Amino acid sequence: MKEERNLRKVFDQHVKLEEFFTGFSVKSQKPVQPQQPQNNDIIAELKQLAKEVDACRKCVLGTTRTNAVPGEGNPNADIVFVGEGPGADEDAQGRPFVGRSGQLLDKIIIAMGLKRSDVYICNIVKCRPPENREPRPEEIISCLPFLKRQLSLIRPQVIVCLGAPATRTLLETNKPIGQLRGKFYDFNFDDFSPPIKLMPTFHPAYLLRNYSDENRRKVWEDMKTVLAELGLPVGAKHSEDRPVPKK
Ligand code: SF4
Repeated sequence: MKEERNLRKVFDQHVKLEEFFTGFSVKSQKPVQPQQPQNNDIIAELKQLAKEVDACRKCVLGTTRTNAVPGEGNPNADIVFVGEGPGADEDAQGRPFVGRSGQLLDKIIIAMGLKRSDVYICNIVKCRPPENREPRPEEIISCLPFLKRQLSLIRPQVIVCLGAPATRTLLETNKPIGQLRGKFYDFNFDDFSPPIKLMPTFHPAYLLRNYSDENRRKVWEDMKTVLAELGLPVGAKHSEDRPVPKK
């Protein structure tokens, strides 16, 4: 009976989490570059990079993966979401964020008034760490050049780092994600280019595991800050006063 109640609670929390982000649909006045012609050179370079990732065995993760997961999305995206590494679903399909976390990320993107095809989605390591453990420093160091090349090709206006490993890697810090999230940092991928704004926020998997109104609101606040940076307005009905849906 107790087990049944717990299952019910988890189910209710999941429904509420889904409703929260589904309910926040933002009417953006302009989509993030969906109309822009795609640059053939960038597309070709990203395809080449994906081939190199497929062939890569620079770290041990290359020997345990099923499929490499280079990343996917709009090569002219204004926003690049960066997670920590592929999970089981991603490893099976060779695509980033397609499991439960990915479904929640899709809802967050839609709530922002965008489509998944408007943004680019990838990870700091391109192969699944066994048992979904965090990627090790040597694995991140081996794989980071791929992400840096992706960012230098796409040159987004904003990088959204999902979770502590991605944020700590790109900002080269050990601070907790709770301290880092919510404000912009400068990310420099080389010494010559202007910095890119980087917004850390909680990983969708963390949100699923640590369900609370407060955590959901924090992620939404972070995404609103990103929208504001891009000049995309948050509609009046999606103001901070909007009540959280009841259970
Ligand atoms: S995780 Fe990165 S560096 Fe390691 S094998 Fe995969 S693609 Fe290569």
